[in-house]
Amino acid sequence: MCRSKLGLRASAVLENIRVVLVNTSHPGNIGGVARAMKNMGLSRLVLVDPQDFPSSEAVARASGASDILDGAQIVETLEQALVGCNLVMGTSARDRRIPWPMYDPRECGVAACEQAAQGAQVALVFGREYAGLTNEELQRCHFHVHIPSDPQFSSLNLAAAVQVLAYEVRMAWLAAQNRPAKQVKVEALDEQDGQPVTVDEMESFYSHLEQSLVAIQFLDPAKPRHLMSRLRRLYGRSAVTKLEMNILRGILTETIKAARGEHQGRSKADV
Ligand code: SAH
Repeated sequence: MCRSKLGLRASAVLENIRVVLVNTSHPGNIGGVARAMKNMGLSRLVLVDPQDFPSSEAVARASGASDILDGAQIVETLEQALVGCNLVMGTSARDRRIPWPMYDPRECGVAACEQAAQGAQVALVFGREYAGLTNEELQRCHFHVHIPSDPQFSSLNLAAAVQVLAYEVRMAWLAAQNRPAKQVKVEALDEQDGQPVTVDEMESFYSHLEQSLVAIQFLDPAKPRHLMSRLRRLYGRSAVTKLEMNILRGILTETIKAARGEHQGRSKADV
């Protein structure tokens, strides 16, 4: 089990991060937020005076993340939503008149994870669909986070904005555990497919290739130039597997037959 420096379980780190939605009008957006959170391993949703919740539309948009909706805490004020928080980051699509310490989404993800791993309670605060957060609400936040969208069209859908930050939190959380973000894919194809070819198989391939290039008159044996060296360099970079080699050899065999006019006119590809 992965633990933070303080000995917190990795999943407990994410439990210390809450998403706070202020005065949301559309229940569908609340559902979309629940889904975005669950995808990224976040579970604590706090709704400040939602206009229409609970709602079947929220459940529909949550598509399977209704446990997050069921567990959502509903409060009347932002102040109540932030009780016990040590770090509050508020999001805004627009520049505000009073300059405030700013984070980009990546910095926000890293700060959230670092603090949460120390046992701090972290809040990510999102505003109303039609008007965002008020200046007063933003001034309750330690940092402002702006997603660097196109200034001509800067406002993201609420659930999309939550998705961006939740993703950054997850990336920082994975990095803190030295867990790769890339899934290691074991190709469960043909047994043969994963196996690299041997150098001698490559050599037989090169002579077969040369033979076919001569047959189709692409290579002039009297003037070979650097063609074969260049093709060796190309295929040498490709980490050809045994299955791929069978395909290449099949193509060459058919190419030679075609050049000699022996073609049957039937596809041999069986891949
Ligand atoms: N019309 C509002 C935008 C509201 S979008 C305004 O002008 O402020 C709803 C919420 O999504 C915002 O309050 C904010 O929390 C989040 N959001 C949307 N776009 C964002 C962006 N580019 N950066 C940060 N947060 C954003």
